[in-house]
Amino acid sequence: MNELRNLPSVEKIIQYSESEEWISKFGRDQTLRAIRETLDFFRSEIKSGKYAPDHLEISNQIQEILSNRFSPTLIPVINATGVVLHTNLGRAPLSHETMRAMQSIGSEYSTLEFNLSTGKRGSRSVHAEEILKQLTGAEAAIVVNNNAAAVLLVLSALAKRKNVIIARSQLIEIGGGFRIPDVMKQSGAKLKEVGTTNRVRVSDYEQALQESSALVMRAHHSNFKIMGFTQEPNLREIVEISHQFGIPVMDDLGSGTFLDTSEFGLSHEPTISDSVQADADIISFSGDKLLGGPQAGIIIGKSVFIQKIKNHPLARAIRPDKICLAGLTATLTHYLRNEAVEKIPVWQMISRTSSSLETQAKFWQQKLKFGEVLPSLSTIGGGSLPEETLPTFVLAVLLPKPDLVMKKLRSLDHPIIARLEDNKILFDPRTVLPEQETAFIFGLQKIFDELKKDR
Ligand SMILES: *Cc1c(COP(=O)(O)O)cnc(C)c1O
Repeated sequence: MNELRNLPSVEKIIQYSESEEWISKFGRDQTLRAIRETLDFFRSEIKSGKYAPDHLEISNQIQEILSNRFSPTLIPVINATGVVLHTNLGRAPLSHETMRAMQSIGSEYSTLEFNLSTGKRGSRSVHAEEILKQLTGAEAAIVVNNNAAAVLLVLSALAKRKNVIIARSQLIEIGGGFRIPDVMKQSGAKLKEVGTTNRVRVSDYEQALQESSALVMRAHHSNFKIMGFTQEPNLREIVEISHQFGIPVMDDLGSGTFLDTSEFGLSHEPTISDSVQADADIISFSGDKLLGGPQAGIIIGKSVFIQKIKNHPLARAIRPDKICLAGLTATLTHYLRNEAVEKIPVWQMISRTSSSLETQAKFWQQKLKFGEVLPSLSTIGGGSLPEETLPTFVLAVLLPKPDLVMKKLRSLDHPIIARLEDNKILFDPRTVLPEQETAFIFGLQKIFDELKKDR
């Protein structure tokens, strides 16, 4: 137990030259706490038979505790997977204009609920809603935290304790535990399914509409396809039969898009204007899927319904914050100016030609002198356009223990997330942002150099 006496005191450690830096970086309290934790740790090490640590070991241990405590878990990564709307990687990266708007509204006071011409209280709801009305031609709009919240709010406000008619083929789960039947239950609405899993007819709706109900809902399949012997009326047909019975229709578009995906070599994802033109009464979609903006849920539609939705107490509980509203407005402005494809990262990525992707992959290969350039496929992700792909070119690397290499790439300061296919590690230029390219090449170089040394 004599070894314990070789352990320095807190007072002694605070005299170390490194202490000054710790205190200036992390503060005195946290430094003292880390020193005490370090001493506790080495005390128990000694009790289990180890020698007392030297200055360097103590210093390293304190340094590690401090940097772990202060390193955030939410950090930027380089997405080389080729999945454009990667939900686990934060879905849509935002445009520069969007970031600037969020930055200035976040760091200053703003007109969030202040009317400059009267000098009196204004409404938070005017900001993104005016531009949404202009873009969609809808009578009214409301923005909430995300589309899952939007669906819950619409059902709670319009269909509590009442029947909501929906096709069996649309009782979807979109991941993250969002299941339409569960959301209905939560809202207090009563699910009334019509048709079968693969086939639903207008007459199925007609039959269900004989009984009293509050709403007919259509949910976009989003992340799956049903094929073979299938049938489902289109939105216009659903609206027509429902309106004959005086019942409004809600269309949950999921992703929703202002641009026609078929112009980019993809199949046609229902657009927001398709739903408006089909005369749906309430339409909801996400802000951070194909729209390419910050996380938000957008509800547009006829004033009578939107007003009821706005007045529901849940609306207050899921209202968006000022930074979201600033960012959403800036992203929507790109659509208003007809510059979405040039300015919104999601659309820049989707619209890239395979020849420019090939050039970029070859540039990487030349720089790194590693791997081969191969044709491959990017996907959209984010619960939109299932099974749809875009032709791309990747840098493909064949190495022993690819899982370990992937792990090393993830442990970089600016982590690189790649895709593993047939034991090859693939890097797709489509989803690597231009401003990340230097860090990307630097990171890959570092890992490849390390691997060479190990061999
Ligand atoms: C993605 C999706 C949602 C949920 O949207 P979030 O913005 O992720 O909350 C709801 N419904 C459908 C059909 C979806 O595709």
